[in-house]
Amino acid sequence: TRVVCLVRRPAGEPAPGDFAVEERPLPPLGEGQLLVRNLYMSVDPSMRGRLESTEKHYTHNFTPGSPLDGRALGVVEESRCPSVPAGTFLRHQLGWREWAVLDPADTDAAGRIDPELAPLPTWLGLLGQTGFTAYVGLARIAGVRPGDTVFVSAAAGAVGTAAGQFARLLGAKRVVGTAGGPDKCALLVKEFGYDAAADYRAEPVRDALARMAPDGVDVYFDNVGGEQLVAALHALRTGGRVALCGMMSQFGGEGRTADINQLIQAVLKRLTLRGFIVRDHDDLRPEFEGRVADWLRSGRVTARETVTDGLDSAPQALLALLDGGNVGKMLVRLAED
Ligand code: NDP
Repeated sequence: TRVVCLVRRPAGEPAPGDFAVEERPLPPLGEGQLLVRNLYMSVDPSMRGRLESTEKHYTHNFTPGSPLDGRALGVVEESRCPSVPAGTFLRHQLGWREWAVLDPADTDAAGRIDPELAPLPTWLGLLGQTGFTAYVGLARIAGVRPGDTVFVSAAAGAVGTAAGQFARLLGAKRVVGTAGGPDKCALLVKEFGYDAAADYRAEPVRDALARMAPDGVDVYFDNVGGEQLVAALHALRTGGRVALCGMMSQFGGEGRTADINQLIQAVLKRLTLRGFIVRDHDDLRPEFEGRVADWLRSGRVTARETVTDGLDSAPQALLALLDGGNVGKMLVRLAED
C-alpha cells in the first residue's frame, strides 16, 4: 500500500520535504482480521507534536523512516472476522495510508458508522472525535449552563465550529469567538451561530473581548493558549470556568510569550481551569452521538469540512492546518465513497 512516511524530524516548522509517500507491503490477512480501504483521513494538530522526539504526548511519537498513522474512515473490502462483514464502514487509527490490515479491536471505540445517518466526512468531524472534543469540553469540563457567555478560540476550526454551535444548543446566551482573518470571522457569525467574532491577528484579544462580551465571560473553551488565554483570564467573571483543550499558539515556540503571573486572575476570581483529553470521556459518547445526530437531522447544526484529494496531498494538508488554511474539519479524501 502507499503510505506517508516521516523522512526526518522537522527543523523548526515542518516542511513538505520532511514527508514522503512510499510503497510498503501489506501484512497478510490473518484469522480474525480485516482488509480496509481507507476513504477519508483526519488531519489533526496533535500530529505536530508527534513529529518531535522530545515532546511527550498522549500517544506515541513518529519515527523517521516509518509510516505516520492517525484517525481514518474506511470500508472493509475483505473480512476474516464473521462479525464485521465486507462492506462495513468503520473508523480506526491506521490512516496516512491507502489500505490497512486491522484487528477489529484496533477500530475506534465508536468503530462502525452508519452512512445513512450522515455523510462519511461528518463521521470524522462533527460526529467524530472532533465534535466529541467540543461536546466533552463544554458539557462536562466547563459545564456550560443556560445563560452563560461562552468564548471559543480557533473558532473557525474543526473543534471551534462545533463548540460554538453546541454551546448555543446547551443554553449559552452569548457565544463569541476568535479566528485568523476577517473572512473566517464573517463566516463564524453567518454560518456557525456566533454572536460576534474577532480577528486575533488584527487587534489585541483583550480589547476584542471587552467589546464582544462587555459583561464578561463565564466559559472559555481554549484551543490556543498563550496570549488569548491571558486575555480570557482578564475577561472571565468571578467563578468562570476554562476548558483547556489545546494550545495551537505554542507550537514552535514563537508564541510562548504569555505571562504566567497573570494566573493571579484565577485566584482573584476563583476560576476553574481544567485540562482534558477527550478519550478519557468515552462514557459520554452515547449521549453525544444521540444529541448531535438529532441536531444534524433537525438542521440545528452545520457540519463543515475542508477536504484535499489524494494521499500525496496529506503532508500539505497538515501544514495548511497548522497555518490556518482550513475552515471546519481538515480531511484528506483517498477514494470515492
Ligand atoms: P483546527 O481545525 O482548529 O485547526 C487548527 C487551527 O488553529 C487553525 O485552523 C488556525 O486557525 C489555528 N491556529 C494556528 N496557529 C494559531 C495561533 N498561533 N494562534 C491561534 N490560532 C492558531 O484543529 P482542531 O479543531 O482539530 O483542534 C483544535 C484544538 O483542539 C487544538 O489545540 C487541538 O490540539 C485540540 N484538541 C484537543 C483534544 C483533546 O482531547 N484535548 C482532541 C482534539 C483536538 P486560525 O486561522 O484561526 O489561526
